[in-house]
Amino acid sequence: MTETSVQKRVLITGGASGIGRLLAVRFADAGWPVIVWDINKGLLDTLEAEGNTLITPMLCDITDREEVYKKADEVQKTFGALDILINNAGIVSGKPLLQTSDAEIEATIQVNLLSLFWVTKAFLPAMVSRKSGHLVTIASAAGLVGVKGLVDYSATKFAAVGFNESLRMEYGGREAGIATTVVCPFFIDTGMFRGVKTRFPLLLPIMQPEYVADKIVRAVKRKKKILILPFFVRTLFILRLFPLSFFDRVAGFFGINRSMDQFTGRKGGETVK
Ligand code: NAD
Repeated sequence: MTETSVQKRVLITGGASGIGRLLAVRFADAGWPVIVWDINKGLLDTLEAEGNTLITPMLCDITDREEVYKKADEVQKTFGALDILINNAGIVSGKPLLQTSDAEIEATIQVNLLSLFWVTKAFLPAMVSRKSGHLVTIASAAGLVGVKGLVDYSATKFAAVGFNESLRMEYGGREAGIATTVVCPFFIDTGMFRGVKTRFPLLLPIMQPEYVADKIVRAVKRKKKILILPFFVRTLFILRLFPLSFFDRVAGFFGINRSMDQFTGRKGGETVK
């Protein structure tokens, strides 16, 4: 039996929109049951109305620890232990630090970082006792390089990269049997980062969500430990060997610090299919 022919139970946070939604449909197309958690009831209803019987949409605010533990219990009683947990939900305020309200900063940390702890703590014990499971963290290229206009967001995504790496050290060995994948994409055209610009679109394109979702599905099926998109972002690891003044100049040359200048973000809950 091939890896892909074995049915896996998947849960995706923030799966009613953007990348999460595309992942849900792709895994369901592979015959895998997918539970989608999201806070957006309208988008969950739309997903439900599409009638894909392998997708179970559930309302869950992942920043609410008690709700996460309660709903995770429900999920595990109904479906059994998860095979794959995809921590995907994320938000962005997209403003310079001094224009970002305290509430926006707290919300970004709650959704992008603290929820990783609640959701993972809820599902990991069953994985550990079965010595099988896969934790997928959707971080960002902004978790590998700081970006002007993304101080709060970038801080949470650096933390998400550290979260994944530390979990890999704790549970990734053969004995524990838990796989981990961290995903660090540059900008994707889902609407979350509407208005962002790239100076060198050939090297650093604003990627199509379908392309990114296909790459993530492939990486998850192959249990890749890290997925960085596009490939050019990997040059960061070489640049990090140089003095920071040089690093900052190169980042500036590639337009990283101008990318958020015309950011507007998503308006009115629009989504991609
Ligand atoms: P999106 O806005 O389309 O989807 C995010 C989903 O998370 C939404 O459905 C939203 O309702 C849900 N969500 C927000 N708060 C929640 C909460 N408290 N509880 C439950 N669900 C909640 O975004 P996307 O572009 O698909 O991004 C998906 C992930 O990819 C995010 O983690 C994002 O940071 C990351 N990412 C995005 C880009 C990009 O350019 N779009 C680039 C790199 C990384």
